[in-house]
Amino acid sequence: MLILGIESSCDETGLALYDTEQGLLTHALHSQIDMHAAYGGVVPELASRDHIRRALPLTQHVLEKAGKSLADVDGIAYTQGPGLSGALLVGTSIAESLAFSLNVPTIGVHHLEGHLLAPLLEPNPPAFPFVALLVSGGHTQLMRVSAIGDYELLGDTLDDAAGEAFDKTAKLLDLSYPGGPAVSKLANLGQPGTYQLPRPMLNSADLNFSFSGLKTAVLTLVNQHGNTLDDVARANIAHEFQEAVTEVLTKKCMAALRKTGLTQLIVSGGVGANTRLRERLNMVAKRRQYQVHYPRLEFCTDNGAMIAFAGAMRMQHAKQTDHSFTVRPRWDLAELTRP
Ligand code: ATP
Ligand code: MG
Ligand code: FE
Repeated sequence: MLILGIESSCDETGLALYDTEQGLLTHALHSQIDMHAAYGGVVPELASRDHIRRALPLTQHVLEKAGKSLADVDGIAYTQGPGLSGALLVGTSIAESLAFSLNVPTIGVHHLEGHLLAPLLEPNPPAFPFVALLVSGGHTQLMRVSAIGDYELLGDTLDDAAGEAFDKTAKLLDLSYPGGPAVSKLANLGQPGTYQLPRPMLNSADLNFSFSGLKTAVLTLVNQHGNTLDDVARANIAHEFQEAVTEVLTKKCMAALRKTGLTQLIVSGGVGANTRLRERLNMVAKRRQYQVHYPRLEFCTDNGAMIAFAGAMRMQHAKQTDHSFTVRPRWDLAELTRP
Protein backbone atom coordinates (compact mmCIF):
# COMPACT_ATOMS: atom_id res chain seq x y z
CA MET A 1 0.00 0.00 0.00
CA LEU A 2 1.42 3.38 -1.00
CA ILE A 3 0.70 6.21 1.46
CA LEU A 4 1.20 9.89 0.72
CA GLY A 5 1.96 11.84 3.91
CA ILE A 6 1.37 15.57 4.33
CA GLU A 7 2.68 17.65 7.24
CA SER A 8 1.65 21.31 7.58
CA SER A 9 1.05 21.93 11.29
CA CYS A 10 3.49 24.79 11.73
CA ASP A 11 6.29 26.22 9.63
CA GLU A 12 7.38 23.21 7.60
CA THR A 13 5.64 21.74 4.57
CA GLY A 14 6.60 18.06 4.51
CA LEU A 15 5.60 15.47 1.92
CA ALA A 16 6.52 11.80 1.81
CA LEU A 17 5.68 8.47 0.22
CA TYR A 18 5.70 5.42 2.48
CA ASP A 19 5.16 1.94 1.08
CA THR A 20 3.91 -0.62 3.60
CA GLU A 21 6.12 -3.29 1.99
CA GLN A 22 9.19 -1.32 0.95
CA GLY A 23 9.26 1.35 3.67
CA LEU A 24 9.97 5.02 3.08
CA LEU A 25 10.37 5.76 -0.63
CA THR A 26 10.86 9.53 -0.76
CA HIS A 27 10.35 12.65 1.27
CA ALA A 28 10.72 16.36 0.73
CA LEU A 29 10.55 19.38 2.97
CA HIS A 30 10.20 23.08 2.60
CA SER A 31 11.10 24.99 5.72
CA GLN A 32 9.72 28.50 6.22
CA ILE A 33 12.47 29.38 8.69
CA ASP A 34 13.97 32.11 6.48
CA MET A 35 10.56 33.68 5.94
CA HIS A 36 9.72 33.85 9.66
CA ALA A 37 13.24 34.70 10.87
CA ALA A 38 12.68 38.42 10.28
CA TYR A 39 9.82 38.30 12.81
CA GLY A 40 11.67 36.22 15.40
CA GLY A 41 9.00 33.51 15.33
CA VAL A 42 6.27 31.91 13.26
CA VAL A 43 3.65 34.28 11.80
CA PRO A 44 0.57 32.05 11.42
CA GLU A 45 -1.01 33.76 8.41
CA LEU A 46 2.27 33.74 6.47
CA ALA A 47 2.69 30.08 7.37
CA SER A 48 -0.70 29.09 5.93
CA ARG A 49 -0.11 30.97 2.71
CA ASP A 50 3.28 29.40 2.20
CA HIS A 51 1.90 25.87 2.77
CA ILE A 52 -0.56 26.60 -0.06
CA ARG A 53 2.33 27.57 -2.34
CA ARG A 54 4.48 24.55 -1.50
CA ALA A 55 2.23 21.55 -0.96
CA LEU A 56 1.34 20.58 -4.52
CA PRO A 57 4.78 21.18 -6.09
CA LEU A 58 6.31 19.08 -3.28
CA THR A 59 3.72 16.35 -3.89
CA GLN A 60 4.72 16.30 -7.55
CA HIS A 61 8.35 16.21 -6.51
CA VAL A 62 8.10 13.19 -4.18
CA LEU A 63 6.04 11.29 -6.77
CA GLU A 64 8.58 11.97 -9.52
CA LYS A 65 11.52 11.09 -7.29
CA ALA A 66 9.87 7.75 -6.46
CA GLY A 67 8.90 7.09 -10.09
CA LYS A 68 5.22 7.05 -9.11
CA SER A 69 2.12 8.92 -10.18
CA LEU A 70 -0.94 10.05 -8.25
CA ALA A 71 -2.77 7.00 -9.61
CA ASP A 72 -0.40 4.77 -7.57
CA VAL A 73 -1.37 6.36 -4.24
CA ASP A 74 -3.56 4.07 -2.11
CA GLY A 75 -4.19 6.38 0.81
CA ILE A 76 -3.40 9.84 2.15
CA ALA A 77 -2.26 10.64 5.69
CA TYR A 78 -2.17 14.22 6.88
CA THR A 79 -1.50 16.07 10.13
CA GLN A 80 -4.91 16.85 11.61
CA GLY A 81 -3.54 18.45 14.78
CA PRO A 82 -2.29 19.80 17.06
CA GLY A 83 -0.84 22.94 15.49
CA LEU A 84 -1.78 26.27 13.93
CA SER A 85 -5.36 25.99 12.68
CA GLY A 86 -4.79 27.86 9.41
CA ALA A 87 -1.69 25.81 8.64
CA LEU A 88 -3.47 22.56 9.49
CA LEU A 89 -6.42 23.52 7.28
CA VAL A 90 -4.15 23.79 4.24
CA GLY A 91 -2.74 20.27 4.53
CA THR A 92 -6.11 18.85 5.53
CA SER A 93 -8.09 20.36 2.68
CA ILE A 94 -5.46 19.43 0.11
CA ALA A 95 -5.37 15.86 1.45
CA GLU A 96 -9.14 15.44 1.49
CA SER A 97 -9.65 16.95 -1.98
CA LEU A 98 -6.87 14.87 -3.49
CA ALA A 99 -8.31 11.76 -1.86
CA PHE A 100 -11.80 12.62 -3.13
CA SER A 101 -10.51 12.99 -6.68
CA LEU A 102 -8.47 9.77 -6.47
CA ASN A 103 -11.17 7.88 -4.58
CA VAL A 104 -8.73 6.72 -1.88
CA PRO A 105 -9.11 6.70 1.92
CA THR A 106 -7.61 9.30 4.28
CA ILE A 107 -6.36 9.28 7.82
CA GLY A 108 -5.91 12.30 10.08
CA VAL A 109 -2.66 11.86 12.00
CA HIS A 110 -1.76 13.26 15.42
CA HIS A 111 1.39 15.32 14.88
CA LEU A 112 2.96 14.08 18.13
CA GLU A 113 2.28 10.46 17.30
CA GLY A 114 4.20 11.25 14.12
CA HIS A 115 7.15 12.59 16.12
CA LEU A 116 6.91 9.74 18.61
CA LEU A 117 7.07 7.00 15.98
CA ALA A 118 9.78 8.64 13.84
CA PRO A 119 12.61 6.55 15.37
CA LEU A 120 10.83 3.44 14.04
CA LEU A 121 11.63 4.56 10.49
CA GLU A 122 15.30 3.75 11.16
CA PRO A 123 17.02 0.35 10.73
CA ASN A 124 16.65 -2.10 13.65
CA PRO A 125 13.72 -0.35 15.32
CA PRO A 126 12.98 -1.30 18.92
CA ALA A 127 10.10 -3.70 19.68
CA PHE A 128 7.31 -2.58 22.02
CA PRO A 129 7.22 -1.76 24.88
CA PHE A 130 9.63 1.14 25.37
CA VAL A 131 9.95 4.53 27.03
CA ALA A 132 9.65 7.58 24.79
CA LEU A 133 11.03 11.04 25.41
CA LEU A 134 9.23 13.54 23.22
CA VAL A 135 11.14 16.82 23.27
CA SER A 136 9.94 19.33 20.73
CA GLY A 137 9.16 23.01 20.43
CA GLY A 138 5.84 22.61 22.19
CA HIS A 139 6.19 19.42 24.25
CA THR A 140 8.39 17.70 26.80
CA GLN A 141 6.87 14.38 27.75
CA LEU A 142 7.94 10.97 28.94
CA MET A 143 5.70 8.10 27.95
CA ARG A 144 5.41 4.39 28.32
CA VAL A 145 4.66 3.10 24.83
CA SER A 146 3.07 -0.36 24.86
CA ALA A 147 1.85 -0.35 21.26
CA ILE A 148 0.82 2.06 18.51
CA GLY A 149 -1.81 4.24 20.18
CA ASP A 150 -1.14 2.93 23.69
CA TYR A 151 0.66 5.81 25.36
CA GLU A 152 0.82 6.21 29.10
CA LEU A 153 2.00 9.65 30.17
CA LEU A 154 4.72 9.30 32.80
CA GLY A 155 5.86 12.89 33.05
CA ASP A 156 5.28 16.27 31.46
CA THR A 157 6.54 19.82 31.68
CA LEU A 158 4.74 22.02 34.16
CA ASP A 159 5.46 25.13 32.09
CA ASP A 160 7.74 25.65 29.06
CA ALA A 161 8.81 22.89 26.70
CA ALA A 162 12.53 22.18 26.35
CA GLY A 163 12.55 23.46 22.75
CA GLU A 164 10.73 26.59 23.85
CA ALA A 165 13.43 27.16 26.48
CA PHE A 166 16.09 26.86 23.76
CA ASP A 167 14.16 29.32 21.59
CA LYS A 168 13.67 31.85 24.40
CA THR A 169 17.28 31.58 25.54
CA ALA A 170 18.37 32.17 21.95
CA LYS A 171 16.37 35.40 21.88
CA LEU A 172 17.97 36.54 25.15
CA LEU A 173 21.39 35.85 23.64
CA ASP A 174 20.54 37.67 20.40
CA LEU A 175 20.70 34.49 18.35
CA SER A 176 18.72 33.68 15.25
CA TYR A 177 15.40 31.82 15.14
CA PRO A 178 14.91 28.89 15.63
CA GLY A 179 16.97 28.91 18.76
CA GLY A 180 17.87 25.28 19.31
CA PRO A 181 20.54 24.84 16.66
CA ALA A 182 21.92 28.36 17.29
CA VAL A 183 22.25 27.90 21.06
CA SER A 184 23.78 24.48 20.54
CA LYS A 185 26.37 25.80 18.10
CA LEU A 186 27.36 28.64 20.40
CA ALA A 187 27.41 26.31 23.43
CA ASN A 188 30.20 24.30 21.81
CA LEU A 189 32.42 27.39 22.00
CA GLY A 190 31.69 27.96 25.70
CA GLN A 191 33.89 27.21 28.70
CA PRO A 192 32.42 24.69 31.13
CA GLY A 193 31.73 25.90 34.65
CA THR A 194 31.86 29.66 34.07
CA TYR A 195 28.27 30.05 35.21
CA GLN A 196 25.97 28.07 37.40
CA LEU A 197 22.36 27.74 36.25
CA PRO A 198 19.68 25.76 38.12
CA ARG A 199 18.70 22.19 37.16
CA PRO A 200 14.94 22.54 37.69
CA MET A 201 13.28 19.50 39.27
CA LEU A 202 16.40 17.38 38.86
CA ASN A 203 15.78 15.68 42.17
CA SER A 204 12.00 15.77 42.28
CA ALA A 205 10.53 12.34 42.93
CA ASP A 206 8.31 12.51 39.84
CA LEU A 207 9.10 12.50 36.12
CA ASN A 208 7.94 16.05 35.47
CA PHE A 209 9.94 18.97 34.10
CA SER A 210 9.99 22.73 34.44
CA PHE A 211 12.01 25.00 32.18
CA SER A 212 10.61 28.49 32.63
CA GLY A 213 12.76 29.22 35.71
CA LEU A 214 15.85 28.32 33.74
CA LYS A 215 14.96 30.89 31.11
CA THR A 216 14.48 33.48 33.87
CA ALA A 217 17.87 32.56 35.30
CA VAL A 218 19.41 33.18 31.87
CA LEU A 219 17.65 36.53 31.73
CA THR A 220 19.11 37.45 35.13
CA LEU A 221 22.63 36.58 33.93
CA VAL A 222 22.16 38.60 30.76
CA ASN A 223 20.90 41.59 32.74
CA GLN A 224 23.81 41.35 35.18
CA HIS A 225 26.16 41.71 32.23
CA GLY A 226 24.34 44.67 30.73
CA ASN A 227 26.52 46.20 28.03
CA THR A 228 29.43 43.92 28.82
CA LEU A 229 27.71 40.84 27.39
CA ASP A 230 30.34 39.91 24.83
CA ASP A 231 30.63 36.84 22.62
CA VAL A 232 32.63 34.94 25.23
CA ALA A 233 30.00 35.47 27.92
CA ARG A 234 27.21 34.52 25.53
CA ALA A 235 28.97 31.30 24.59
CA ASN A 236 29.55 30.47 28.25
CA ILE A 237 25.91 31.09 29.12
CA ALA A 238 24.75 28.99 26.13
CA HIS A 239 27.08 26.21 27.27
CA GLU A 240 25.76 26.18 30.82
CA PHE A 241 22.16 26.41 29.61
CA GLN A 242 22.61 23.37 27.37
CA GLU A 243 24.31 21.48 30.22
CA ALA A 244 21.36 22.24 32.51
CA VAL A 245 18.66 21.15 30.06
CA THR A 246 20.43 18.01 28.92
CA GLU A 247 21.32 16.96 32.45
CA VAL A 248 17.69 17.16 33.55
CA LEU A 249 16.40 15.37 30.44
CA THR A 250 18.97 12.59 30.79
CA LYS A 251 18.34 12.02 34.47
CA LYS A 252 14.55 11.87 34.02
CA CYS A 253 14.89 9.41 31.13
CA MET A 254 16.95 7.10 33.30
CA ALA A 255 14.40 7.46 36.11
CA ALA A 256 11.59 6.58 33.70
CA LEU A 257 13.43 3.44 32.56
CA ARG A 258 14.06 2.43 36.15
CA LYS A 259 10.47 3.07 37.16
CA THR A 260 8.96 1.11 34.27
CA GLY A 261 11.56 -1.63 34.33
CA LEU A 262 12.03 -1.18 30.58
CA THR A 263 15.41 -1.13 28.85
CA GLN A 264 14.70 0.70 25.59
CA LEU A 265 14.34 4.43 25.13
CA ILE A 266 13.32 6.33 22.03
CA VAL A 267 13.93 10.06 21.72
CA SER A 268 12.05 12.23 19.26
CA GLY A 269 11.16 15.83 18.47
CA GLY A 270 13.41 18.76 17.53
CA VAL A 271 15.50 18.80 20.71
CA GLY A 272 16.28 15.13 20.00
CA ALA A 273 18.64 16.49 17.34
CA ASN A 274 20.79 18.05 20.05
CA THR A 275 24.26 16.50 19.97
CA ARG A 276 25.00 17.05 23.64
CA LEU A 277 21.72 15.40 24.66
CA ARG A 278 22.52 12.36 22.50
CA GLU A 279 26.06 12.21 23.90
CA ARG A 280 24.82 12.24 27.49
CA LEU A 281 22.04 9.74 26.92
CA ASN A 282 24.33 7.36 25.05
CA MET A 283 26.93 7.57 27.80
CA VAL A 284 24.66 6.70 30.72
CA ALA A 285 22.62 4.20 28.71
CA LYS A 286 25.75 2.30 27.80
CA ARG A 287 26.75 2.04 31.45
CA ARG A 288 23.36 0.61 32.35
CA GLN A 289 22.96 -1.49 29.20
CA TYR A 290 19.93 0.39 27.94
CA GLN A 291 19.35 0.93 24.22
CA VAL A 292 18.56 4.40 22.92
CA HIS A 293 16.97 4.98 19.50
CA TYR A 294 16.77 8.29 17.66
CA PRO A 295 15.36 9.41 14.33
CA ARG A 296 17.90 10.55 11.76
CA LEU A 297 18.56 14.26 12.36
CA GLU A 298 16.23 15.54 9.65
CA PHE A 299 13.31 13.53 11.10
CA CYS A 300 13.67 15.03 14.59
CA THR A 301 11.99 18.27 13.52
CA ASP A 302 8.75 18.39 11.54
CA ASN A 303 8.64 16.30 8.37
CA GLY A 304 6.26 14.43 6.09
CA ALA A 305 7.88 11.01 6.54
CA MET A 306 6.75 10.63 10.14
CA ILE A 307 3.18 11.50 9.12
CA ALA A 308 3.15 9.03 6.23
CA PHE A 309 4.52 6.36 8.59
CA ALA A 310 2.08 7.03 11.46
CA GLY A 311 -0.73 7.11 8.89
CA ALA A 312 0.37 3.77 7.45
CA MET A 313 0.19 2.24 10.94
CA ARG A 314 -3.46 3.33 11.17
CA MET A 315 -4.59 3.05 7.57
CA GLN A 316 -6.98 0.18 8.28
CA HIS A 317 -9.14 2.76 10.09
CA ALA A 318 -9.04 5.28 7.29
CA LYS A 319 -12.14 7.14 6.16
CA GLN A 320 -13.23 5.62 2.86
CA THR A 321 -15.79 7.96 1.39
CA ASP A 322 -16.70 10.86 3.66
CA HIS A 323 -14.28 13.61 2.78
CA SER A 324 -15.68 16.22 5.12
CA PHE A 325 -13.00 17.38 7.54
CA THR A 326 -12.12 19.24 10.70
CA VAL A 327 -8.73 20.18 12.13
CA ARG A 328 -7.78 19.72 15.77
CA PRO A 329 -5.45 22.59 16.78
CA ARG A 330 -5.58 21.27 20.37
CA TRP A 331 -5.49 17.52 20.68
CA ASP A 332 -4.17 15.51 23.60
CA LEU A 333 -2.02 12.53 22.63
CA ALA A 334 -3.52 10.52 25.49
CA GLU A 335 -6.88 10.55 23.64
CA LEU A 336 -5.49 8.20 20.98
CA THR A 337 -6.36 4.52 21.10
CA ARG A 338 -4.88 1.42 19.50
CA PRO A 339 -5.74 1.09 15.81
P1 ATP B 1 5.52 20.44 18.49
O1 ATP B 1 5.93 19.29 17.66
O2 ATP B 1 5.61 20.21 19.95
O3 ATP B 1 4.21 20.99 18.07
P2 ATP B 1 7.43 21.87 16.89
O4 ATP B 1 6.86 21.11 15.75
O5 ATP B 1 7.65 23.33 16.74
O6 ATP B 1 6.56 21.61 18.22
P3 ATP B 1 9.79 20.38 16.41
O7 ATP B 1 9.69 20.69 14.98
O8 ATP B 1 9.79 18.99 16.83
O9 ATP B 1 8.79 21.23 17.30
O10 ATP B 1 11.17 20.98 16.95
C1 ATP B 1 11.47 22.34 16.91
C2 ATP B 1 12.15 22.68 18.22
O11 ATP B 1 13.36 21.94 18.36
C3 ATP B 1 12.52 24.13 18.34
O12 ATP B 1 12.18 24.59 19.62
C4 ATP B 1 14.04 24.14 18.12
O13 ATP B 1 14.69 25.19 18.78
C5 ATP B 1 14.40 22.80 18.73
N1 ATP B 1 15.66 22.27 18.19
C6 ATP B 1 15.94 21.96 16.91
N2 ATP B 1 17.23 21.55 16.77
C7 ATP B 1 17.77 21.59 18.02
C8 ATP B 1 19.05 21.31 18.56
N3 ATP B 1 20.05 20.88 17.79
N4 ATP B 1 19.24 21.48 19.89
C9 ATP B 1 18.23 21.92 20.69
N5 ATP B 1 17.01 22.21 20.23
C10 ATP B 1 16.76 22.05 18.93
MG1 MG C 1 9.30 23.81 12.88
FE1 FE D 1 6.59 19.14 15.64
